[in-house]
Amino acid sequence: MSSRGLRPQSLAGVRLAEGRPARRAAAVRAVVLVKQPPPFRMASRETHPEGTVVAAGEVNIGTGRLVVMAGPCSVESRQQIREAARRVKAAGADMLRGGAYKPRTSPYDFQGLGRKALAWLSEAGRECGLPVVTEVVSPEDVDLVAEHADLLQVGARNMQNYALLRRLAIAPKPVLLKRGPSATILEWLLAAEYLLSGGNPHVVLCERGIRTFETAMRNTLDLAGVALVKSLSHLPVVVDPSHGTGKRALVPPASRAAAAVGADGLLIEVHPCPERALSDGEQSLDPAEFAALMRTLRPHAVAAHA
Ligand code: PEP
Ligand code: MN
Repeated sequence: MSSRGLRPQSLAGVRLAEGRPARRAAAVRAVVLVKQPPPFRMASRETHPEGTVVAAGEVNIGTGRLVVMAGPCSVESRQQIREAARRVKAAGADMLRGGAYKPRTSPYDFQGLGRKALAWLSEAGRECGLPVVTEVVSPEDVDLVAEHADLLQVGARNMQNYALLRRLAIAPKPVLLKRGPSATILEWLLAAEYLLSGGNPHVVLCERGIRTFETAMRNTLDLAGVALVKSLSHLPVVVDPSHGTGKRALVPPASRAAAAVGADGLLIEVHPCPERALSDGEQSLDPAEFAALMRTLRPHAVAAHA
């Protein structure tokens, strides 16, 4: 038998003399070091060295060009989401975001307008030529949300909702998987593994900040983790600097930092009038602030007119 053909099991029956290195035992022809694959075998770059490109509608994520998804935290009215879509498109955004189903920490907070918000969101996206990303919070809603959205968002609170992940694994649309606020990178990649192993290869990861001892910001945006995940996995990684910082003034510098560490895209909250937002106004940019940020991210782009 050639040493190549020697499988690890072949070593099992070999009795080695006490204290002798395996290599020198008479019955051992070769010692083969078998590298364990990482537990996230389908998400791993070891098994798939090329970066994956995920298509959300007409937009490709993971090509090396920074994809910007922008819009309000919540869809609040038909007029609000149309206005938001028009303004983010004019500033150069590639995709429109907006929540119809909102997972809120308090049951007394605005929970989203559900089905009608989905219809307004997809209409606004179509009008402006922007694919849409929106959150789905329960397995029963996956079909409905998939009819309206180009990219299905799994919120941070649901990263380990395995019933939802299993359902999304058989959905006909790509998935944006946010990192849980207390999830390790291994747990995040294993959550992605549920989607991949269940049959959906179209997965985008999203870093949105984790909970640490620091309370000066809403979360701690783990940008080193983004660079690490880009090296560990072939999946595209986007960054949400809005939830990652919780503060409007920190969104532009955090966005530029995310681009610098190699993020494939950004998910940014933009509201036509943040002071009146029903959720996350304090971390939302107004359209002028968003346009100014886009000019720093894409200094050579020709500005479109609103
Ligand atoms: C959101 O994108 O509005 C949202 C609820 O995000 P997260 O799940 O990261 O808190
Ligand atoms: Mn939000």
